[in-house]
Amino acid sequence: MGFLSVLSMAHRLISERLSPGDLAIDATAGTGADTLFLARCCGRRGKVYSFDIQSEALRLTAERLAKAAASEHALAEVALLERSHAEMKDALPQAAHGQIGGIMFNLGYLPAEGADAAIITVPDSTLTALNASLELLRPRGILTAVLYPGHPGGDQEAAQVERWASEIPGAAGQAIIYRQLQRPAAPYLVAIEKK
Ligand code: SAM
Repeated sequence: MGFLSVLSMAHRLISERLSPGDLAIDATAGTGADTLFLARCCGRRGKVYSFDIQSEALRLTAERLAKAAASEHALAEVALLERSHAEMKDALPQAAHGQIGGIMFNLGYLPAEGADAAIITVPDSTLTALNASLELLRPRGILTAVLYPGHPGGDQEAAQVERWASEIPGAAGQAIIYRQLQRPAAPYLVAIEKK
């Protein structure tokens, strides 16, 4: 059986904190798996803001949501935003600032056939978005970031995110790591609970 996968652990941490009616952010929509998961957690009265810089990612996400909505009636409304997550503070209404229950990052490239593997998350905008996320979260809100040290460029980004998380003052939040120690190149998870 083994331990939970990194993605399942991220989902578990987020689902334990989100309730119907909550607000959430998917900082990297990709193919929409996390956006759909968040839409389920937030329910019909909740809302999810989903960011990606690639229109193809948002198209795949919209397709996944539409398929699910055909048989599920308790999904949150989702705002699909073709913008960098570095702009999330500007993109969200002021009333949502400090009210977000969960924020998910899944770094790297779009895992879809024909996608341009050169379009990846990069440390500058990732760190800007992570700092904005800490402001947008409500107290006890959860942020998860899945990091990919095995991808070109991903190792540096993972190291920078890990350093950023380890430097968050204890009074601002608690940072943890979930990682298989025998596989240093495998994806791993950093999670923050805002104080
Ligand atoms: N969570 C997704 C899923 O469930 O399929 C996987 C996300 S994928 C690993 C990373 C995504 O981040 C890609 O679709 C990429 O286009 C997007 N991305 C890269 N830079 C970005 C940025 N600055 N802002 C928002 N999204 C970005």
